[in-house]
Amino acid sequence: MVASRDVALAQRTVEAHWEADLSAEARERSRTVIDLDAEENACPACGAKFQTAAGRCGECGLRFG
Ligand SMILES: [Zn+2]
Repeated sequence: MVASRDVALAQRTVEAHWEADLSAEARERSRTVIDLDAEENACPACGAKFQTAAGRCGECGLRFG
């Protein structure tokens, strides 16, 4: 929790620290947009392809929906 006047600085700081711990590949995947109407998607966490209807990534278990 931060004062409203500090929100922008707090967001930039959190994003900088969060991205510093990720590889370039993981940063790219984290920006993936999932289309829940598509038959298949790529998981933003591990990059594996999964059937959207399954509701979760079969590789890492990340849940969708
Ligand atoms: Zn996954």
